[in-house]
Amino acid sequence: MKRKTIATVWLGGCSGCHMSLLDIDERILEVAKLADILKSPIVDGKEFPEVDVALVEGSVTSDEHQHELEVIRQKSKILISLGDCAVTSNVTSMRNQFNKEDVLNYAYKEAISNDGQGQMPGGPWPLLHLIEKVVPLHEVVKVDYFIPGCPPSADTIFYVLFELLNDRIPDLSAERKLKYG
Ligand code: SF4
Repeated sequence: MKRKTIATVWLGGCSGCHMSLLDIDERILEVAKLADILKSPIVDGKEFPEVDVALVEGSVTSDEHQHELEVIRQKSKILISLGDCAVTSNVTSMRNQFNKEDVLNYAYKEAISNDGQGQMPGGPWPLLHLIEKVVPLHEVVKVDYFIPGCPPSADTIFYVLFELLNDRIPDLSAERKLKYG
């Protein structure tokens, strides 16, 4: 069986889904026997490579996310929505009830941790180009598998990943109920 390649991506999320991925613990060795992780928040790769499986955490909140997700889709054979923010937009979409200019003003100017000039300490930082409404991944690109949960359980993440790396289709039907973290 051909060795596979994996990418994990963090868009509009809190990184909790990646923490759950790390919670597969020693089973990462099973993954490492079958695949190489080419891009991830824990791997220092700049360009998004061609991969067999991409796990994407978080929703789409900005032009940058939208472009990144389109590139990920083009370069990934299988794209997985990882966690409720990716699947439904979840807590990240709480800002949808506000005007995006108000959100930017609050986050970059008015928040007590900022300097009042539109910069957080350590800046200058480029301002995000927020899209009007936060959306889940499948509203931007085709998604092949959905792993819900906030965060999803490590067991479910490992199960789906291990099946795909072994060229099997994960069984996410009622017989195998998803575990929530
Ligand atoms: S689904 Fe939950 S754990 Fe995952 S990024 Fe969203 S808020 Fe964080």
